[in-house]
Amino acid sequence: MTRTAAQISSPDLARRLLAWYDRHRRRLPWRAEPGELADPYRVWLSEIMLQQTTVATVGPYFQRFTSRWPSVKALAAADLDEVLTEWAGLGYYARARNLHRCAGVVAMEHGGRFPDTETGLKTLPGVGDYTAAAVAAIAFDRPATILDGNVERVIARLRLVTDPLPGAKPKLKALAAQITPTERAGDYAQAIMDLGATVCTPRKPKCLTCPWSDACAARVEGVAEELPAKTPKKAKPTRRGTCFFLVDADGAVLLRRRVESGLLGGMQEVPSSPWIEGAETVVTEDHAPVGGVVWRQLPGMVRHTFTHFHLELTVLAGRVETGPQVADARWWPVDRLGEAALPTVMAKVVRHAMGHLT
Ligand code: SF4
Repeated sequence: MTRTAAQISSPDLARRLLAWYDRHRRRLPWRAEPGELADPYRVWLSEIMLQQTTVATVGPYFQRFTSRWPSVKALAAADLDEVLTEWAGLGYYARARNLHRCAGVVAMEHGGRFPDTETGLKTLPGVGDYTAAAVAAIAFDRPATILDGNVERVIARLRLVTDPLPGAKPKLKALAAQITPTERAGDYAQAIMDLGATVCTPRKPKCLTCPWSDACAARVEGVAEELPAKTPKKAKPTRRGTCFFLVDADGAVLLRRRVESGLLGGMQEVPSSPWIEGAETVVTEDHAPVGGVVWRQLPGMVRHTFTHFHLELTVLAGRVETGPQVADARWWPVDRLGEAALPTVMAKVVRHAMGHLT
């Protein structure tokens, strides 16, 4: 006889998952304890930070942000450069700028209170479908359906969805919506994320302890670990460029602010040439920020990987007696570089150069 997954109604699936959550919920710095009201500011902040970043990485950033800026009004009043400095290392700096803009909109246009519906939340800068659903559910108990990587995996397995991601997202969302309850919607949203993070893990799911075990079609078919299917990724191209590490007689380093739009927009950089795809190693003085400098190529290379490409940077080092004025640039005392909100790739360039110059 062929085995099939048990037919369990959606309300029963939700009830079981909530009962499991009551015993096994994760304690997270931004999560309200049982019986406590969730703070929309903390929920929103954590959801923005968690986009494409792990819970373990976000923890210390969240603690620092909330102790420095304990409310959305405090964050709105903060200097953008200070926010970018605290954000440095989390990547995706457009998110940090949107975070600050969003705090301003909530403080100025909504009296410091976040809108309490998905539609209202989506009008805020940097708040897309996923974040709006997560905040509406977790902070305001709205029956919104969230679909992050954890939920996609759980639903693809439960309902044996074999179409590959990302094309399967609408189907997975519709299936997830069928189970989302109207009662305790916030707990349910966190419960299904916890199930994906701790039980229905990408490798070796712990099906024996899963509250949906008998209803799970992928478990019955023995294919849980193969789901969700994914469209193979294209190989990332490599871009190459040159950075100019210029130091004056006092040991100050020239940093320039990148243009607002585009990758690392508005962040400080060690001035660099454009990053060109497909080129062999690019070593050029054409884009040097200051003329008449004798540049010395440092051994080795700085490598960094962004979402869509690998980057290889050659570093040229130079010295000047007195640092001249350069558009959009400042001379930073070397012991204050930590305050410069350097993105990770530029922190690597500084480390690389300092390693060769000291
Ligand atoms: Fe995931 Fe296994 Fe639970 Fe299915 S039974 S939802 S594969 S943990």
